[in-house]
Amino acid sequence: MPGGVNSPVRAFGSVEKTPVFIARGKGSKIYDIAGNEYIDYVCSWGPLIAGHCHPKVVSAVNAAAKRGTSFGAPTIAETELAEMICSAFDSIDKVRLVSSGTEAVMTAVRLARAFTDRKYILKMEGCYHGHSDSMLVNAGSGSAEFSKPLCPGVPKEIASLTLAAEYNNIDSAAKVFDKYKNEIACCIIEPVAANMGVVLPKAGYLQSLRKLCDNNKSLLIFDEVITGFRLYYGGAQKIFNVRPDITCLGKIVGGGLPCAAVGGRAEIMNLLAPIGSVYQAGTLSGNPLATTASIATLKLLKTKNFYSKLEENSKFLEKGLLSAAKKTNIPMTINRIGSLMSCFFTKNRVENFEDAKTANVKLFKTFFAGMLERGVYLAPSPFEAMFVSAAHSKKDIAKTIFTAQNVFGKL
Ligand SMILES: *Cc1c(COP(=O)(O)O)cnc(C)c1O
Repeated sequence: MPGGVNSPVRAFGSVEKTPVFIARGKGSKIYDIAGNEYIDYVCSWGPLIAGHCHPKVVSAVNAAAKRGTSFGAPTIAETELAEMICSAFDSIDKVRLVSSGTEAVMTAVRLARAFTDRKYILKMEGCYHGHSDSMLVNAGSGSAEFSKPLCPGVPKEIASLTLAAEYNNIDSAAKVFDKYKNEIACCIIEPVAANMGVVLPKAGYLQSLRKLCDNNKSLLIFDEVITGFRLYYGGAQKIFNVRPDITCLGKIVGGGLPCAAVGGRAEIMNLLAPIGSVYQAGTLSGNPLATTASIATLKLLKTKNFYSKLEENSKFLEKGLLSAAKKTNIPMTINRIGSLMSCFFTKNRVENFEDAKTANVKLFKTFFAGMLERGVYLAPSPFEAMFVSAAHSKKDIAKTIFTAQNVFGKL
């Protein structure tokens, strides 16, 4: 395996360490192959909002495995999951299940281009939308006209169709729309950015973006792969009261298995084959194992006080980390919404990718290593979020805060 991993961030490159190999997980903890225990704030990069090996999810998946892992034919579980997704999201009339967030975004963009008969797409700097060619572009602040491939292998002709604007800056997006009048198929955004660290939308920003898209007859795509069932059962769109045309879901919606979804208005979704002529398919799409894990997980999220308890514990963690940083004179800004948060080693506010890049990466590296050594597993990159799960207890969090203060003191 190149780099010894199957997804690059796992190699611990940006923290210059050797990754730990994980043997198993239980609740809020993971255990490496040497038997060391860690409180886990990665939670498989978001999906495990109920913690590792939740008994209800495990038993549902076990039962499904015994019935057969895949048929490539319709099953009742797909219908049940589709109904749950459509009723959770006001903006979703119809949904297609896929196997990854990358796939959901690819399909959303293809649909938007087909629906509008336009070729350009607009994304926001610092937002991540999976690894399809169109999304791997580098635009640099304000230079909407010269999008470049982010990496070799992405043809510059493809990259040139992806325009970029600054997150949280409506004028920046408006400029691009002006320049490419009637040519932009869609604007895609993480309603709460969580791949440049967590960055919340400013008041009114998402509403203004909605208006901008309407005025230009472009579609608005919310990539809620992280935020989907993380912030609220109906996603960030419910919290901020903005209705996108298409929504991408992943991570939590798969309950820890490979399942993701793209959904939206019926007139858009009906363009998909077999009703319409926009082709999209998948051998393992909506397979019984994944859909069963999804349904079991979504049911847990519907239990009483699920989100309020997450909020309470996450707030406790935020406050504790901030006061530990203060006591030890460590510059720190924490952006948090619900159980999604990140710590930036800076005193400045972080409202976009440029701000995020001003945080002290060296401090982060040392902090990461110190926490890992003491049994707290954080995402091995300063631009990733911390995920709190329902399995994290007050005791776990108190220990995390205590450990952080210890490590801060040594920075
Ligand atoms: C993780 C992520 C993706 C990609 O999902 P995969 O399942 O890794 O392909 C897309 N968008 C956002 C916002 C993500 O966080």
